[in-house]
Amino acid sequence: MAYKITDACIACGSCEPECPVEAISAGDDKYVIDPEKCIECGACANVCPVDAPQPE
Ligand code: SF4
Ligand code: SF4
Repeated sequence: MAYKITDACIACGSCEPECPVEAISAGDDKYVIDPEKCIECGACANVCPVDAPQPE
């Protein structure tokens, strides 16, 4: 289980510095979460303006 960033992502970058385990990085057209690193803390979802990060 991990959070996943959906297509709603507008690539604003707000979530990246909030992740305590540096699981978030910029992808081609949206940000992506490394499921091997994500600890499901929800910090990214809390700062996202469009609710793109969702628990899988
Ligand atoms: Fe990082 Fe937490 Fe978001 Fe997982 S849920 S990507 S650990 S901020
Ligand atoms: Fe995408 Fe939301 Fe992260 Fe911004 S905060 S880069 S919209 S997932």
